[in-house]
Amino acid sequence: MLMTEYGGAPCSDLYIIPETSMYHKLERILPNVRKPARYTGGEYNQIIKNPDETEIRVALCFPDIYDIGMSNLGMRILYGVINKMPGVWCERVFEPWSDMAAALRENNIPLYGLESGDPIKDFDMLGFSVGYELSYPGILNILDLAGIPLKSRDRTGLAPIIFAGGTCMYNPEPLADFIDIAVIGEGEELDLELIELYRRAKRANWSKERFLAEAAGIDGVYVPSLYHVEYNEDKTIKSITPKKPAPPVVKKRIVQELDKSWFPVDTIVPSTEIVHDRTVLELFRGCIRGCRFCQAGYVYRPVRSKSREVLVKQAADALENSGYQELNLASLSTSDYRELGALCDDLLDWCEPRNISLSLPSLRADNFSMELLDRVQRVRKSGLTFAPEAGSQRLRDVINKNVTEEDILSACRTAFAGGYNAVKLYFMIGLPTETDEDILGIVTLAKKVLGVFKESAKNKNRGVRITVSTSCFVPKPMTPFQWEKQDTPEEFERKQQLIKDNLRTRAIHYSWHNPQVSLIEAVLARGDRRTGAVLEAVYKKSGGLQAWDECFSYDAWRSAFEEIGINPSFYAHRERSYDEILPWSVISAGINKEHLIRESKLAKQGKTTPDCRQRCSGCGANSLMKGLSCDG
Ligand code: SF4
Repeated sequence: MLMTEYGGAPCSDLYIIPETSMYHKLERILPNVRKPARYTGGEYNQIIKNPDETEIRVALCFPDIYDIGMSNLGMRILYGVINKMPGVWCERVFEPWSDMAAALRENNIPLYGLESGDPIKDFDMLGFSVGYELSYPGILNILDLAGIPLKSRDRTGLAPIIFAGGTCMYNPEPLADFIDIAVIGEGEELDLELIELYRRAKRANWSKERFLAEAAGIDGVYVPSLYHVEYNEDKTIKSITPKKPAPPVVKKRIVQELDKSWFPVDTIVPSTEIVHDRTVLELFRGCIRGCRFCQAGYVYRPVRSKSREVLVKQAADALENSGYQELNLASLSTSDYRELGALCDDLLDWCEPRNISLSLPSLRADNFSMELLDRVQRVRKSGLTFAPEAGSQRLRDVINKNVTEEDILSACRTAFAGGYNAVKLYFMIGLPTETDEDILGIVTLAKKVLGVFKESAKNKNRGVRITVSTSCFVPKPMTPFQWEKQDTPEEFERKQQLIKDNLRTRAIHYSWHNPQVSLIEAVLARGDRRTGAVLEAVYKKSGGLQAWDECFSYDAWRSAFEEIGINPSFYAHRERSYDEILPWSVISAGINKEHLIRESKLAKQGKTTPDCRQRCSGCGANSLMKGLSCDG
């Protein structure tokens, strides 16, 4: 909003944001809040348009703070592609931290777009990017701070239309009362089609109902209000009936060729530090592995890669235009990129002379190599992370991790011999069929890694730091484990204590997730639209920012469940039968139900499925590819 330039061109040539009274009010409150730069806009490469020449105003909203939202690649891509539409201005909105939210309320300042400072309640559309269930109250917080009615039915006019995208929309039902539309799958093309339809509606002065009915005709658009849900005595779903013209099933949308899709090379450079303060290069989408708990691994299928040439060009342009000193090679399983070694060489030829470092997300232990790591860390060394997920081979086979204990130990041996003194090991507890033996397997494996350090480390005298981190298993829609039950918080705490009691060595540090948070995540991940009332009650009791430990209030959730008469165990701790109608049954990620059932049964037998490169296991995702094959 503190406008200086537009994409490098001085603003005076284009448009100056007027100094409004809201501007002066902000000047008074910003000095009193944490990290005021979160609320000012004015960053390098932000996009400013002249409102008088703009037909459609879109607010791209992230239901968490600036530091998190600005690190989200999806937000950057959508911001860029929407702003490429003529006559459409897309602005960013993040959930303010509690101090700023209070100041906005005290000063009657409605939440505004970062670029213009204009109240988003006057915008045409608000699009939410939703990737984590605990951020749902944040959506209500943004609507409330903007002065927009929370419920879809209470917003009767054509504006503002509230739509939401992101992986959480594979079960949008807990948000059904609050959003008008869920966009299923990748938004690069889908969101533009929806906004174009809105432009037609606005020009023709359609009613909201007419717009929603027309929107339901776009592949990938789910309009909750056009589906009627009935329940059985036992509270399970009896039927989900579409009202014309809504389709019986809404299938996700994907970008066919990533090489041709838009990538943010002139991305905004934040004025304050954010969580991932670097250039992020997306190598491919989808994953060949098929880990049975992993929602992202399934919903981003089919696997589609970018070519080396395109990646090197995008990296150079993005680094040149941002000045970042780190390039992160992102995907769900980066070490599976076919030409990773050659790509790293090409990138290092460009990065090394400019002292720019490459970084990799957690690596799979089964295709880890020192040669690769040495390449990547020539500029700057950073810690190593492996994700065995389960402590025993039996349980790793149940979840189809396809990593052996020897893979993990030899990867650590290689790393320690190569001079590394720190390694993080990620595990999950509460997995289907898990026993205490599997839990103690985590302790045994961590101690074996310590043993490997003692026998093979290059710098033994510097000591070692092994971090074991356990998250709590949350059964997610669109995975083979979508029918499984979750452990109770008490059971999770018992298993965490078992690890603590047996992991008593100073070289191994243990961190664990809060089981109460994971319970709420599980309720919302598989909740039906009746859980929406709980969301509203929690928001009224405890506000937004529930993804933050210091703001999360388990008491608020518990009393909301009681108040609304919702039993969280019904959603989290109950195994479903394969023929139960699930709340997300009208949504399709392109993965066959038969495939998910087959994988679920193989899991119970402790049998693995080879990855897509070894053999296509027929998940069905390739049916989404038009004339192209999965790049398994
Ligand atoms: S269709 Fe086959 S190759 Fe493609 S993602 Fe599914 S299992 Fe893998």
